[in-house]
Amino acid sequence: MKSASSLPNTAEASTPELQSLRSDDDDVNEVWIPCSICKLPINPHCHCHHKQQHKAETQLGYKPSQIPRSIRNLSSKRREVISYIKDHCGYKQALIHNVDRSYDILKRIQITPIKDIRRISPQDFEKTLVYKTDKINALIPSIAVCCDKNPSWQRDMEDSFVILDKYGGRSDTCLVGIFDGCRGKSAACTMAREFPTLFLGQLLNLDPSYTITDKEKRFLDSLDTVFKDHYKDAEKHFSSALYEKASSEMDIKAIHIAYAKAFWRMDRILQLGRKESSRAIWSGCSSVSCLFDGFADAKSSQKEAQLLGSTQEHKRRLGVLHIASVGNVKAVLCRNGKPYCLTKSHSSCSERTHAKENSGSHSANEDQGLVESVTKVSGGLGYHGDLKLKNSVIPAPHTLSIPIYQTCQFLVLGSSGLWDVLSGREVVSIAMKVLKDSLKNSDNSKAKLDYLQPFQNVTAAENIHEVTVPNCIDSSGVPERRNGLNEDEGGANPGSHLELRNPLNLETRSESRRACKSNPREMYNNAAACVCQRLVMAAVLAGSQQNVTVCLVLLPGCLNINEPSEKM
Ligand SMILES: [Zn+2]
Repeated sequence: MKSASSLPNTAEASTPELQSLRSDDDDVNEVWIPCSICKLPINPHCHCHHKQQHKAETQLGYKPSQIPRSIRNLSSKRREVISYIKDHCGYKQALIHNVDRSYDILKRIQITPIKDIRRISPQDFEKTLVYKTDKINALIPSIAVCCDKNPSWQRDMEDSFVILDKYGGRSDTCLVGIFDGCRGKSAACTMAREFPTLFLGQLLNLDPSYTITDKEKRFLDSLDTVFKDHYKDAEKHFSSALYEKASSEMDIKAIHIAYAKAFWRMDRILQLGRKESSRAIWSGCSSVSCLFDGFADAKSSQKEAQLLGSTQEHKRRLGVLHIASVGNVKAVLCRNGKPYCLTKSHSSCSERTHAKENSGSHSANEDQGLVESVTKVSGGLGYHGDLKLKNSVIPAPHTLSIPIYQTCQFLVLGSSGLWDVLSGREVVSIAMKVLKDSLKNSDNSKAKLDYLQPFQNVTAAENIHEVTVPNCIDSSGVPERRNGLNEDEGGANPGSHLELRNPLNLETRSESRRACKSNPREMYNNAAACVCQRLVMAAVLAGSQQNVTVCLVLLPGCLNINEPSEKM
């Protein structure tokens, strides 16, 4: 085994060369597991991948003593095995599919050897990327995102996100989305890049106050070859039944339909398979997206009355949040210190019937059940390479609209890496504690003053157009008002996306504390970033095996977070 041979053997640990190897690592790496196949000692953090490698090699016809020498060598082995299957085996399709999967695994190992997968060490968390934006609009004091690949378990970062301020040309509207990729990052990245424009295309038909840039229009026009007349007819048929509702409900209903149409269209676009690298399984993703619609002016207030009826007038509604989710990503709102889950998990249990109806199979081995042994979700977008799997995974979103009151404190969006190990209650209590600590010594009255006059500082308001999309560096079809930014560029762009090296040491950073006091906006940015990073760290240490992405949206209620809850 190529990767294993470079690992030290416990019996040889006293040789000087190996001692130097050890000193580079932390003491957490002292445990070795002897491999039952090649007998080499394997480090626990490589064990799962190592076994996977053996299995794939066997599948491609390598003997235990052989290893793939190059990608070329792998390709010729693959051709050999497939031609053998075609000549000698009855049920060809499934066997060829397995060979292709094994080929993908070994090809990845050729590109990134297993030993390059790192292990958990405290330094990892200092390098976690935190994206912060300046104050977004009157409804949202700050948004921060933190992503971690979770390198002990994951080879690639497959999550992606998007934050679009002044969405659709409206000053008080903001779109935030998290896309949790599975089996490759292509679907999640495409979604982050193209979903906002698709959704905007739908919103344009509902509300003339949304506007579109020339570039976005060109992108939508370019899709006419994909969405032909018969697709549009089917789409119309789907929505016409739902439109026959009372007028007060119609606006919200219409937005939900716009979401649904945009999700189905997105799924159709992913079917084109652009940028898919695997032969066997195309990537897919779960998604949650939030449309924040603030009521900044009188016109919007009228709309608010229309939208939400006239109950509970004593509470001032500051805006409305329209949320759509599919798959195993989650959004949890903290209102008055209590967690409210706004998404519905498309878990295997709830959708088991659907999969069975469409002759998809669930694994009986696990409580949760794995759809076709690949993904834990049965709602999602993409997964087009495998027809059988695709029949079990549907792109229909769960949608919900809620009013934003002064009592709403923050919203946490997270990829499955967070929610696999932490509950909504746990996440909210961690976030509350960090927020309270970060904002404790702030000059609250000054912070509020700043909040109530959101656009006083024109230069600051102009700086907030920037949006980050990590892991999406190609620019084809990128709508305007968005910056492609990959991990490497994160630190080099000190503008509105600040990288916070170690916000956990906020107590010791008196300088930044002083800066925070003089600039409340910076204080909220720091607090939000701090919460995101703490949550990512908690998820990784709690044993998450997935990429972890956490987005925190501060809402007006966070301004009163250190006041007794009765007052809110
Ligand atoms: Zn082995």
